[in-house]
Amino acid sequence: MNLNKLSLRDFRNYVNLNLEFDSGVNLIVGQNAQGKTNLLEGIGYLGSGKSFRAQRTAEMVRFGAEFADIQGDITAQNRQQTLRWVLFSGSRPRMAYRNGAKKKSAAEMAGVLPSVLFCPEDLMVLRAGAAQRRRLGDHALCQLRPNYDAALAEYNRILDQKSRILKDKEENMSVLAILPEYNARLCQVGALLISYRARFYDSLGKAAAVYHGQFSGGAEEFTLQYKTVSTVTDPFAPVEVLRGQLEEHLESHYRAELSSMQCLTGPHKDDFDVDLNGISLKSYGSQGQTRTAAISLKLAQRELMAREYGEDPILLLDDVLSELDAKRQDFVLNQIDKGQVFITCCEPERFTRLGKTIEIQQGQVRS
Ligand code: ATP
Ligand code: MG
Repeated sequence: MNLNKLSLRDFRNYVNLNLEFDSGVNLIVGQNAQGKTNLLEGIGYLGSGKSFRAQRTAEMVRFGAEFADIQGDITAQNRQQTLRWVLFSGSRPRMAYRNGAKKKSAAEMAGVLPSVLFCPEDLMVLRAGAAQRRRLGDHALCQLRPNYDAALAEYNRILDQKSRILKDKEENMSVLAILPEYNARLCQVGALLISYRARFYDSLGKAAAVYHGQFSGGAEEFTLQYKTVSTVTDPFAPVEVLRGQLEEHLESHYRAELSSMQCLTGPHKDDFDVDLNGISLKSYGSQGQTRTAAISLKLAQRELMAREYGEDPILLLDDVLSELDAKRQDFVLNQIDKGQVFITCCEPERFTRLGKTIEIQQGQVRS
């Protein structure tokens, strides 16, 4: 998969940007706050319809502009294709086009140009809070499985509604009558999420173990455990079984949810843990081990995508290389000897397989 050309109009700090890329390594250099990460965000959004940093779509529209336009010429599945997104600053829904044809839903754009992002925050993800790990896992899984993406969106919608019911109950006790209906839906969709996650984390952990093993010269055995609702005895069990176990847990927390006015139980609390030689990385790992394990996870994510799509996904390295010592830099660079890569950094360092260098200054290419 390759992004050949990109144009951004009124996207973040870009008024009008037109770029052509190399099919190998593209180095994006520039001072702080010039638009390097914005450019990676635009590339990532083009292929996934998701931003790795924006909370709301409107954030990506340039201040004062009415809409942003992202267009790209890509090569995927051995075909030249075009992708386009138009994002609005108000509440108007975004528009998506593939090969000139307007698409009804973002799902129809999924999987055409998947990407893997690696940024400095990811290096510490194994020591961070559960929410950050869930975000990382979900972002990867959504790109691999569009049906998971849809189920997750549905789950979050129901969860939002349920939260509102729990908060509103003070004013109006009758809203509680509809709570069981929401709980039933949550367990149904939640069971599906757990089923997808069990399989995903299993493959991710196995692939990451190979990378981590290589990096540590075989000295450290990497294992990953997916952690979900405590009543779930086997996350690989049939969805119907999972649903029953989720209901059981919800029932036992019914009063606690009412009194705390919060959704306390469900896969929105899921997490995963990494052990090295059977010892929890989160509790006992060193800085270096934490970073190496995170690199292994990212490389594993890229590998799962390559297996799924039969082509290497685009790799977006935002500022991450400068955070790594020489040994880890080499390890990463040696592992990405194929596929298209976009690397941002403030100072161009040593890069072996450099295709193109693009210098960005205040949202423009400096020639
Ligand atoms: P660093 O090296 O510090 O990471 P960077 O080159 O990656 O810098 P970006 O994160 O891409 O910088 O952001 C550059 C600028 O874009 C910021 O100063 C920010 O104010 C601006 N910016 C972000 N969103 C918008 C927007 N919607 N409209 C206009 N400008 C924006
Ligand atoms: Mg940046």
